[in-house]
Amino acid sequence: LIRLYVEPDLVAERRLTAGEGHSHYLAHVMRLREGDQLALFNGRDGEWLSRLDSLGRRDATLVPLERLREQTFPPDVELLVAVVKRPRLEVIAEKAAELGAARLLPLTTARTNAGRANPQRLRTIAVEAAEQTGRLDVPQILPQAALAEVLEAWPAARRLLFCDEAGGAEPIAEALAAEAPGQPWSILIGPEGGFTPAERAAIRVLPGALAVSLGPRILRADTAAIAALSLWQAALGDWRGA
Ligand code: SAH
Repeated sequence: LIRLYVEPDLVAERRLTAGEGHSHYLAHVMRLREGDQLALFNGRDGEWLSRLDSLGRRDATLVPLERLREQTFPPDVELLVAVVKRPRLEVIAEKAAELGAARLLPLTTARTNAGRANPQRLRTIAVEAAEQTGRLDVPQILPQAALAEVLEAWPAARRLLFCDEAGGAEPIAEALAAEAPGQPWSILIGPEGGFTPAERAAIRVLPGALAVSLGPRILRADTAAIAALSLWQAALGDWRGA
């Protein structure tokens, strides 16, 4: 069943309109016809078996028929990544969605030199990955922020998994095995130039910070993000048990 993310409320028999991007996708990429069925989700109302009612050049109308799955949300783990060059940042947005991150926060740090993230583009990538991967929500793309400001406003209850390439940090798997599940976490990944000593110090003084190593090799930011999020999901997230 084709899955499509839409904005409107999903209510049985309440017709909704999807815009140009969707009608092109449904007609020419997925080759659907009027009367065909697909699944819709909006991040609030679960997943709905739906019927494609009409398919025009400019828009498509869709009718939710029956709820297939109740709304669920992934664990509260978010990715804080220094903005890196566009292709790598886009990989990070896609993999964050696949690996069940709740949010992605692009950061400006002292050694960030890749400019600004394009939030619209990252959002589109996250939506497509959510459709493909079967999740019922789309990870939120937060507005780009400065690392120093984020650290200053850090919520007391939130843990920070600091991926520190400088050496001497505890191995990630062992560090996470000692933690209790159920806490909100952020995973912090630096830019290609790494963190400055001053940034490293400001991060490490946070009471909720846990500095970890991802092994003896220096990883690219996208690889580090994928590795850290995977290990977090396995140790504390929804890859566990059941
Ligand atoms: N230029 C830096 C490397 C930056 S790699 C240097 O040579 O030291 C980009 C980011 O990925 C790092 O800031 C860190 O958050 C993460 N990272 C990469 N390899 C890592 C490792 N072995 N352990 C922990 N974090 C790592």
